[in-house]
Amino acid sequence: MLATMVVLALVITSVIAISPVVDFGDVRRTVLTHDRLDGVPGSGGEGYSYLATSQSGAPVTWACEAIIEVEVNPQGAPEGYAELVASALATVNEASSFTFEVVAETDDRQFFDRPPGPVLLGWASEEEVPDLVGPVAGLGGPSYVSGPGGARSVTGTVVIDTDLPRGWFRGMDEEAVLVHELLHVLGLGHTQESGQLMAARHHGQSELGEGDLAGLAALEAHACGTS
Ligand SMILES: [Zn+2]
Repeated sequence: MLATMVVLALVITSVIAISPVVDFGDVRRTVLTHDRLDGVPGSGGEGYSYLATSQSGAPVTWACEAIIEVEVNPQGAPEGYAELVASALATVNEASSFTFEVVAETDDRQFFDRPPGPVLLGWASEEEVPDLVGPVAGLGGPSYVSGPGGARSVTGTVVIDTDLPRGWFRGMDEEAVLVHELLHVLGLGHTQESGQLMAARHHGQSELGEGDLAGLAALEAHACGTS
């Protein structure tokens, strides 16, 4: 039997900023409920979906060619986590024009309601982060601000479950889980196509599929105004 795990998205959204100038100090954020973790129905394209869209239907993502700072909280991390994180980030960076960059280690554990700033990447128990309950291997998603000009991601979270049964990752690719969550941070939702890394359930796929890559390209095109 193949191990199956669920790699859910977590989106921490903002609500509309009324002023044409986005007021970062007045961003309200809401954790979406589970039935919205799979992305916006009908959004995206073949093999991919968008985690969130603006009213125009454009995906919520980062600024064009954004350099996205990441702070790593090593509490509860597996041995060799630094290499694991570096490898996952390199995989995503090579596949997109967005660039994740580890800037520091931190003891920050504010996985939710984060103010604009570095993405927090860490490990947590189900007790600390109840949404990691059951077979959920990790959560990932952005926070974004929105205004008349659209929406833009300004921070995010990746949190990996430390309560997975011993050996859970055996035969599976722990790095793939991180890459999956990082693609949520960039703005991709789940796809129904099981061969993609952004499928909600992991069946051993360990590399980015064509749908994943098409989704990243679509995010970039929207971010850079070339779509
Ligand atoms: Zn997911």
